[in-house]
Amino acid sequence: MTGTAYTLEVRPALPPELAGMDDLAGNLLYSWDRRVRRLFYQIDPQLWERCSHNPKLFLRRVDQVRLQAYARDSDFLKDYREVLGRANAYNEPHPPAPGLDPGVAREHVAYFCMEYGLHESLHLYSGGLGILAGDFCKAASDAGVPFTAVGLMYRSGYFTQTIGRDGRQQTHFHPTDPCDLPVTPARDADGWQVRVTVPVGEREVQACVWQAVIGRVRLLLLDTDVEGNSPDDRAITYQLYGGDRDTRIAQELVLGVGGVRALRALGVHPTIWHLNEGHPALMILELCREAVASGLDFASALELTAASVVFTTHTPVAAGHDRFPRPMAAHYLAPIAAGLGVDVEQVLALGALAPDGGEFDITTLALRGSRHRNGVSRVHRDVAARMFAHVWPQLDAEDLPLVHVTNGVHVPTFLAREWSDLFDEQQPDWRSKLRDADYWKRTIDAIPSHRFWGLRQSLKCDMLEYVACVLERQYRRASYSRARIDLMRRVLSADYSTALVIGFARRITAYKRPLLIFRDLQRLGRLLTDPERPVVLICAGKAHPQDGEGQAIIHTINALAGEPPLLGSVFFVEGYDIALARRLVSGVDVWLNTPSFPQEACGTSGQKAAINGALNLSVLDGWWAEGYDGGNGWAVTPRADDAAPEQRDTLEAEELLDLLEHEIVPLYHRRNAAGLPEGWVARAKAAMRSTLPRFNTDRMLADYLERLYLPGSRHRRLLEADGGEAAAALAAWRARIRRHWGKAALRWAAPPPDHAAAGMPVTLRVVADLGELGARDVVVECVIGRDDAPSGQAPLSYAFAPEPAAGDEQPYALEFTPPLGGLLRYRIRMYPTHPALAHPLETGCMLWL
Ligand SMILES: *Cc1c(COP(=O)(O)O)cnc(C)c1O
Repeated sequence: MTGTAYTLEVRPALPPELAGMDDLAGNLLYSWDRRVRRLFYQIDPQLWERCSHNPKLFLRRVDQVRLQAYARDSDFLKDYREVLGRANAYNEPHPPAPGLDPGVAREHVAYFCMEYGLHESLHLYSGGLGILAGDFCKAASDAGVPFTAVGLMYRSGYFTQTIGRDGRQQTHFHPTDPCDLPVTPARDADGWQVRVTVPVGEREVQACVWQAVIGRVRLLLLDTDVEGNSPDDRAITYQLYGGDRDTRIAQELVLGVGGVRALRALGVHPTIWHLNEGHPALMILELCREAVASGLDFASALELTAASVVFTTHTPVAAGHDRFPRPMAAHYLAPIAAGLGVDVEQVLALGALAPDGGEFDITTLALRGSRHRNGVSRVHRDVAARMFAHVWPQLDAEDLPLVHVTNGVHVPTFLAREWSDLFDEQQPDWRSKLRDADYWKRTIDAIPSHRFWGLRQSLKCDMLEYVACVLERQYRRASYSRARIDLMRRVLSADYSTALVIGFARRITAYKRPLLIFRDLQRLGRLLTDPERPVVLICAGKAHPQDGEGQAIIHTINALAGEPPLLGSVFFVEGYDIALARRLVSGVDVWLNTPSFPQEACGTSGQKAAINGALNLSVLDGWWAEGYDGGNGWAVTPRADDAAPEQRDTLEAEELLDLLEHEIVPLYHRRNAAGLPEGWVARAKAAMRSTLPRFNTDRMLADYLERLYLPGSRHRRLLEADGGEAAAALAAWRARIRRHWGKAALRWAAPPPDHAAAGMPVTLRVVADLGELGARDVVVECVIGRDDAPSGQAPLSYAFAPEPAAGDEQPYALEFTPPLGGLLRYRIRMYPTHPALAHPLETGCMLWL
């Protein structure tokens, strides 16, 4: 044919019997309800693949004749009606799930994040942060928590990846039309698509608002690609993590400021504002502007706003924290400062890394503009506390007002269909028992070992077939020889499922150390190619287009995979996304993770593997430092972080290969008389039953509610009473402390005792010089503990009582009976206190004697 080929999409009409398919395609419930996906898939499996599992697109492309046929197929119709009935019932408003505080029904959480990973049909994510946000929305829907998420509508999403013949990553951007995505315009009461205006420097940028429906909750997506904006402004929301610093701050303005305005325009009244990572922190300033407009001064507005802001930090890696040069920040924030009625310097001070200024740091703004903060694992909380010392300079890291809520995964999304089917057989409402450890112990232990193993092997075969198809496409495009393709096909096939399969898939970046396992090539080669006990390693992952080191790592893995000794044992699959992740985590035998401690904040992919019965082999970092119990996987011990990096890597790589050679491979190949690897199955069951009830999003959401959301909402109500009078009083008190704390002093009034008889009281006497401050403004405490106390065990503290003052000197005394025997250490400290503080050490002021 010559001439231009024009496209004509012949859109089928849904037969009336199947009218509900439209509703099913318009609700991302399909991203975790496999029965919904199966309806589409069943009608035309090839088209389903070609449409990238996008039901909306599928319904526009599916053949009319085929649809008519299914509309008359009684089996299909029965299944369809059942699935539709269940989906409709699910989507009805529900009271909060049992076990949650019923008061949650009165709250409304606004959740802000730069990325959302819900399903492969909506490319709004790059990695773990987005997947977590997507899982969070699903969990909020499941639990009946009133919740609205806010993000950006990236027309071009994040890039897709192919691997070229040279083994290098190639990046592709596919602009999409919102019509093809599971989103619709978010409309106001009059039916118009909501538009908001956001000040971006001297420009007023328009953004329209889309919405994605996720079960019972909504995700609002702001999009600046609208008429009326300049071409540059239309491109602001074009790509996730694309563009330069100006693009990034403009995106953060649209997300933060525009996000609040979008919620207001839609009549949503949040009581809790959750910043998932620092990117959306400029919304704090917009909330302050609203409070200022209602009559408060800036300092009081900030107290009031911060009371109900929850901030979750996610990364110990510097590149994950956005910093902007001061002049640039001043330029973009000037209109906001004007709206707040303050000098821009005062706004910049909230994000200042040091008292004398420095760059404007979004994370610091998030910390100063929130009162409820958390890291995403126990290890990460402590790392974050050390990173954030500049905000609370006088506090010890363990005292920082920062808690941890360890991430979890949304089980219905990441648990393989075969497992769901098996659990359905035993107890159809297992989804409501996700936090019940006893239930999971009983359920998993009751699965006969041969059935458990059979199911695992069948998941593995499916995964191998899937990966082989992707690799065949990849190799053909790159013109690999037939022989090379055949070799791959032979290895990645059901015939070869006796091999132990190791998976490593995540964002490819230096701190995740994807090359750690390759440090001793000869030894790894011997290990993988033992004909009696073969091992296969499947790798996948994308490197950010600006991360040269990450791209070099991909190239290196491909080069190693292309020649002996690793040829035919190591494969790098292109295009890591949620669909591939679901296959890999459920199909591999071992999930490998080798981050450089303590840089893996949590690492949820290992949780996905464990709930599917795969065994983790991971550095004890992030969640694994809590999840590993000695019998549910394997741990590589991180070496001291003050050792030279090279030395560390060598030692940890050696331990990794030792574990593989002496424990993992032998255990996998040790079979009983029936050919069953009993030891392996026992460990895999232990992995499932220890991980599933602990590291899921139901548990995570319940923790957020109890530790952060409900306290935030209570605190906000306290401060907003009487038109914000309490907020104003707190702001005034804080200013007074800031002025006078530097002059406060503390000394002994009587010599500190150095011994005591067991069971007898001890008296301590100190004198404080408080200057302008009063005795009620401070607490004096004795903190006491043992040197050999297990880490994590908080020391005890006893408050001193003020005694009658003489002049400027304020005496304090404490009589107490030491609760422990042996050699104790005690320290005396003084800090400011106010009943309206969210956390006693919130001010960051502390004086040690
Ligand atoms: C779960 C998941 C991640 C996050 O996993 P990490 O272990 O934190 O790297 C990233 N990408 C995809 C596609 C995922 O499904």
